[in-house]
Amino acid sequence: MSDIINLLPDHIANQIAAGEVIQRPASAVKEMLENAVDAGATQIHLLIKDAGKELLKVIDNGKGMSETDARMSFERHATSKIRNIEDLFSIRTMGFRGEALASIAAVAQVELKTKPHDAEAGTYIQIENSTVLKQEPCGMPSGTSLAVKNLFYNVPARRNFLKSNTTEIKNIVDEFTRVAMAFPNVGFRLTNNETDIFLLEPGNQKQRIVALLGNAFNAKLVATEQDTEYVKIKGFIGTPQAATKTRGNQFFFVNNRFIKSAYLNHAVSSAYQSLIAKDEFPAFVLFLDIDPEKVDANVHPTKQEIKFEDEKIIYAFVNSAVKHALSKNSIAPSIDFELDPHISQLSSITQPFTDIQRSATQKEFLFNTFTQKGTAHLIDKRNDLKNWKELYKIGEDDNHAPSMDMPTREPMHNSTQLQHGLQQYTESHIQMLFGKYILYPKSSGYLLIDAVAALERIAYDDYASALSCQPISIQKSLHPQTFDVSPSDAILLNEVLPDMHALGFEIEHFGAQSFIIQGVPADIESGSEINAIEKILEQIKHSSSDIKLDKREKLLRTMAWQKANRSSIQMPLDALKELCTKLFQSTQPTYTPRGKKIIVEYSLAAIESRFNNEA
Ligand code: ADP
Ligand code: MG
Repeated sequence: MSDIINLLPDHIANQIAAGEVIQRPASAVKEMLENAVDAGATQIHLLIKDAGKELLKVIDNGKGMSETDARMSFERHATSKIRNIEDLFSIRTMGFRGEALASIAAVAQVELKTKPHDAEAGTYIQIENSTVLKQEPCGMPSGTSLAVKNLFYNVPARRNFLKSNTTEIKNIVDEFTRVAMAFPNVGFRLTNNETDIFLLEPGNQKQRIVALLGNAFNAKLVATEQDTEYVKIKGFIGTPQAATKTRGNQFFFVNNRFIKSAYLNHAVSSAYQSLIAKDEFPAFVLFLDIDPEKVDANVHPTKQEIKFEDEKIIYAFVNSAVKHALSKNSIAPSIDFELDPHISQLSSITQPFTDIQRSATQKEFLFNTFTQKGTAHLIDKRNDLKNWKELYKIGEDDNHAPSMDMPTREPMHNSTQLQHGLQQYTESHIQMLFGKYILYPKSSGYLLIDAVAALERIAYDDYASALSCQPISIQKSLHPQTFDVSPSDAILLNEVLPDMHALGFEIEHFGAQSFIIQGVPADIESGSEINAIEKILEQIKHSSSDIKLDKREKLLRTMAWQKANRSSIQMPLDALKELCTKLFQSTQPTYTPRGKKIIVEYSLAAIESRFNNEA
C-alpha cells in the first residue's frame, strides 16, 4: 500500500484555522481592535464598507511594527505576546495565540501599513491567500493601519454563509462595543460607509458606558466595587428600571476581556431576584480583575469563554458585590411626604424638617427597611410606589425605640396625633373588592393589593425566618400516617426533610420509599396532609426550571404559595389591616417571591388626568 498522508500547505492550514477564529466580519474586527489595544494605541478608528464584506480597516496610533515583524506577523503562531507556556498563565494582553493575522490573511485581501515611533519610514505589505504580493517602504504616521478587503473572497461557501448586512453590522457593533467598553481611556471611532456611528472620546468608565449604551443609562447606573484578595470587581450595574427583555446590556470582563458566562450572569440576576420581573434581564458592566494564574483564557478559539480556577468563589463575590451595590443605592431614598390635607395641618408637618431630623429619618428608613430586611432599594426606586411606605411609616414611628442619633425628636404627642389621624383615615376606608383585592387609600391616590399574593409574600418571609431562626411549631398528629413515594421522590424528600421540619412538617423516613407523618403545620386541614406533601414535591420538581434555585428556595416558594392559596381571604377589617401592615413590613411588598405583582398603585395625579383635571 502506498503512503497516503501528506502535510497541508500553509495557506490551507491557515484557512482551516481561520474557520475557528474568523467566522464573520465581526470576528476579524474583534481581533484587529484587540491588536490595536495590545499595541498601546490611544486612538483607534474602525472603518467598514458593505457591512465589512467589502472592507474592514483599523487604524491605530500604537507602537507599530518593524519591517521584519510586519512580515512575521502573518505567519501562523507568530506572536510577540508569549514566549513559552508559562507566559500563558500571566497573560495580560488580549491576544496571545498568534493566529489572527495569519487566519485573516488566508481568507481575505490584506494591506498592512505600519511604522514604529522611532522609524523614519513605515512598511507596506500586501497579502492575498497567505501570499505576499508586495512589500515596500511607505511614508505614514506612527502606528498601524490594517485593511481587510473582500473577506472570504476565496472561500465562497463562507461568503455565502454571511447574514444580511443589518445582522453583520450589528455583530460588528457588538464586538466594537465590547472592546470600547473595556478601554474607556482609549478613543474609538466607528465609521460605516463614510458615516460615523460612534465617536468615543477617552473618558471614565461611566462616560463610556453612557456613550455606548445611550444617555438613558446616565441616571440608571449604580457603581459597584468589591475588593478582595482573590478578585477585584468593579463596574456599574443598572437599576431595576434599566432591566430589559433581552440580554443586550450585560457585560462581563475578566482582565478586560469580554466573556460570556451563563453562570456569572446568574450570579448577577439572582441578586436582583424579585426586584425585576421574571422575564427581564438586569443591565450590568462588570470588570473582574483576577490573577491571570487563576483563569485560563485559552479554552476557546475566540477566547469568549474562560475557565476559572474556582468558579464558585467568583460567583459568590459577584453576587455579593451586586447585592451590596443595590443596597447602597437606597442610601438616598426619595422621601417625599404627601399627606392627607387634614393631617398636613398638624404642627409636626408644618414645622420644617431640620437637616439633622432629615438625616436621622433617612437613617431610620434605611435601618428599618433595608439593613433589616434586605431589599428597600426597590421600594422607592420601583414604579411610582415611592410614597406609600413613608406614609405608612409615620404611623409606625413611635413603635421604634428612639435611635441614638436622633437628638431632636419631635414631641411625642404630635407624632401620636399624626398616627391617629392617618390610621383612622386609612382604616375606615380599607375594604375588600371583588373578594380578591384590598383597596388601600392613601392621601395621594390608592393602592390595590392582591390579597392572595400578599399572603404569599408574608408566608414566604415567615418561612424564611423559620428556616434561619425560629422553627414553626408543629401540630402533632394523633394518628401518624404513612405514605409511599417513587424512588426519585424519596431521594428528593429526604433532601428537604430537615428544612420541612423547620417549616412545621415532622416526617420521618420509614424504610425504602415509605415515610411517616408525625405532625404538620397547624393550618393544614387534617386529612389533607399527604396531599399537601405530594403537592410540595411536585412543585419543587417543576418550579422555575429556567432558573437554578436551590431546593430550599424552591421549598420555601412552594410552601408559601400553597399556604396563601389555602388561606381564606374573607376576613374582618382588623385582619385586613393586619395583613397590610405585615405586607408593608415584609422584605419585598411589591412582588411575590415568584415575581408576581402584589400592589398596583393608582395615583391621584393619574386619576385627575383621566378626568382631564389638573392634579
Ligand atoms: P496575537 O495577537 O495573538 O499575538 P495576531 O495574529 O493577532 O496574534 O498578531 C500577531 C502579532 O502581530 C502580534 O503579536 C503583534 O506583535 C503584531 N501586531 C498585530 N497587530 C498589530 C498592531 N495593530 N500594532 C502593532 N503590532 C501588531
Ligand atoms: Mg491578536
